[in-house]
Amino acid sequence: MRFNFGRLAIINLLLAVVMLASCAKEPASPEQQLIGDVAAALGGRDAIVAVETFTMEAEGRMLNIGQDLTPEAATMEFDVSDYRLVADLANNRSRTELTRTPLFDYFRGRDPMPQVSGIDGTVAYDIGPDGSARRSHEDVATDRLSAYFHHPLPLMRAVITGAGSLGNVRNNGGYTVADVTLESGKAFTLAIDPGTKLPAYISSTDHHYYFRDVMRKTEFADYMAVGDVMLPAEISQSFDEFHVFRIQATTQHVNEPVDASAPQAVIAAAPVTGSTPAQVTAEQLADGIWVLAGQSHHSVLFEFSDHLKLLEAPNELRTLAVIAKAQELVPDKPLTHVINTHHHFDHSGGLRTAVSAGLTVITQAANEAFYRRMAKQPSTLVPDPLSRAPREIEIEAVNDEAVYADDSMTIELYHVAGSPHSSSILMAYLPEHRVLIEADLYNPGRTTPQLFAPNLLDNIQKFELDVERIVPIHGGIIEFEELETAVQALRN
Ligand SMILES: [Zn+2]
Ligand SMILES: [Zn+2]
Repeated sequence: MRFNFGRLAIINLLLAVVMLASCAKEPASPEQQLIGDVAAALGGRDAIVAVETFTMEAEGRMLNIGQDLTPEAATMEFDVSDYRLVADLANNRSRTELTRTPLFDYFRGRDPMPQVSGIDGTVAYDIGPDGSARRSHEDVATDRLSAYFHHPLPLMRAVITGAGSLGNVRNNGGYTVADVTLESGKAFTLAIDPGTKLPAYISSTDHHYYFRDVMRKTEFADYMAVGDVMLPAEISQSFDEFHVFRIQATTQHVNEPVDASAPQAVIAAAPVTGSTPAQVTAEQLADGIWVLAGQSHHSVLFEFSDHLKLLEAPNELRTLAVIAKAQELVPDKPLTHVINTHHHFDHSGGLRTAVSAGLTVITQAANEAFYRRMAKQPSTLVPDPLSRAPREIEIEAVNDEAVYADDSMTIELYHVAGSPHSSSILMAYLPEHRVLIEADLYNPGRTTPQLFAPNLLDNIQKFELDVERIVPIHGGIIEFEELETAVQALRN
């Protein structure tokens, strides 16, 4: 029996070898070929699957997206130091620690700012400077999980272990390109250098709260051997045409013991969905002028003879709420325009919503192209009022100054030239009331230096504005003397 069994086994083995050999003769599909080539270039399938943890220390630069001097966001950089990424690939967990130091005059000063953020499966979190952990919104978790796969190790590991599938191999822009789709349905584009067979970039369509649908593209260079695998030492990322960061690894390790799990308090916390409703208060400043406050960013409503104008649309929810408040305060006149102070995301984030409500945008001329782009951007991953009811943006661009006046109301707008805060920022002046409205250039109650105040004062003098009171977009109304005193103190 034993002999027969052995003979059967040998025959079976021979059969298997013959079958394998016949399989091997069949040409591999482009997908199998690509997976094999990339896996081999990265160190082999077994070596990739054997990587359970990954650590990277790095340094680099990060751009000031959303708060740059110009809408193109290419002038202000943060130095990135103490960058440390730990990843647990078996459980889709990663945590990133880094320190950002502004290389420009930042309103909080140039002190280093530590940041800790992570993703644990579908749970995203941030850890504050005091060590307290906070669970992030579900939209952030979706985005951060996508960002987690923007590295050759987790993405190729998913392909090799069957947690993702690779298809649609093609040539594009000098690269061999394929689609990788995870079990969740999330899709990525993987681009391979045809010479080295190493991943050159990974891209995906992700949601950004301001840009809406955005192409996140992560590029890899400077591959080096780390344990049994090859890993990129240089990683850079962009959102569409906007550069986000570039880092260079100083050390990389695989299979060191790491704990990349989310803090217990975060895992125990309920998922964060929806958003807190906007709080809008209305304070009448003068006849036909209301300051709409209630949260960090205020708006101002102006009643003209036959229409209303709004100043500032900070974000979607607040803009919906201030539009509703405007209609409640003056129900018989249409709201037709929104005046935007500057392009920073926390001051222009509601413009799409304003456009969807039919408002014409009044802004400094240098913001026009950026806003036209913003209003055209699709928002399929997280729909917003404009994606639900698409509409062309109407813009009235202001160069140095503009006046909007009728029998009931006069608003003068001035470009605050040379501001170190934003190169395309407007201030509003109400000559009948000697009131100046400004955003971010002087913030009452701020304990950090008022870096932008001297330039604001220069511009007020240049345009010969006879200001008595200032209505800031952040903070309470102040007397003009407070600005003068603050500038004196800075200049002494
Ligand atoms: Zn700003
Ligand atoms: Zn602000």
